[in-house]
Amino acid sequence: MSYMIMFRGVSRFLRTNPVSGQRSMSQSSLDGKVAIVTASTDGIGLAAARALGKRGAHVVVSSRRQANVDKAVALLQSQSIRVTGTTCNVGKGEDREKLVQLTVDQCGGIDILVSNAAVNPFFGNILDSTEDVWDKILSVNVKSAFLLTKLVVPHMEKRGGGNIIFVSSVAGYQPMQALGPYSVSKTALLGLTKALAPELAHGNIRVNCVAPGIIKTRFSSALWQNKDVADEFKKQLSIKRIGEPEEIGGTIAFLCSDEASYITGETIAVTGGMSCRL
Ligand code: NAP
Repeated sequence: MSYMIMFRGVSRFLRTNPVSGQRSMSQSSLDGKVAIVTASTDGIGLAAARALGKRGAHVVVSSRRQANVDKAVALLQSQSIRVTGTTCNVGKGEDREKLVQLTVDQCGGIDILVSNAAVNPFFGNILDSTEDVWDKILSVNVKSAFLLTKLVVPHMEKRGGGNIIFVSSVAGYQPMQALGPYSVSKTALLGLTKALAPELAHGNIRVNCVAPGIIKTRFSSALWQNKDVADEFKKQLSIKRIGEPEEIGGTIAFLCSDEASYITGETIAVTGGMSCRL
């Protein structure tokens, strides 16, 4: 059969069966899904929780401080989002277990994990960084992402599948000056995404990653609050502005939706066109 005949056949089929060629709105909604988003009381995590919640997911928000959790829960509730909150320092094993158990007990299961927490306790020449700095950064930014994944996978398998998203950084592709250990931890997440995706695919679990550029949050304030520094960064951008947390939240929600059903093991750079490759 020639390609032309095959193409005509497919076009005719899609015309008479429009739903087969086009996903309906309800297919891309996250109604009935339960999503854990770590470090979600501010910045990118909060925006991801909002984006998932707006698409119908019940979101579980957490961070280290109860006052921040209470504020985020109240804010999301005021936006008609189904939300549960708890404290969780992702660097602590007992906190990670509490987060997962509470989600299962109160929400009935787990479909989505957005592993978003990161710390950066060090600025300077990489050779001046100490073992303590490396232990802290690798423990919170990388190890906790893997250990949380290990905890949620059995619950996702019980639901017939799920989605895991890691939050890396443009610094994972191109180490940022004075941010050596942090940048290396973000490169590790690109590898973790690729290592997990084939193993989890048989359980219908997709594993993807988002690499934000410079996004307007408290974490990155040193990069955008000073106009001269911000202008210097903007020179590297095609879109000449600092990104907004919602622009990362939307990408995360897309990756968790059925619209991304054939995407796994990928990292999407959301950088306003900052060039990045390994
Ligand atoms: P942010 O606005 O400063 O928010 C940080 C959040 O993390 C807060 O909710 C904080 O609440 C929580 N948190 C901090 N340490 C935690 C821990 N150990 N366990 C649990 N929660 C913790 O930060 P952000 O800019 O959104 O950063 C989020 C992620 O995006 C990070 O992985 C970061 O590396 C990545 N990223 C950010 C940018 C950027 O330009 N902003 C660029 C690339 C990548 P508590 O204080 O209550 O714990």
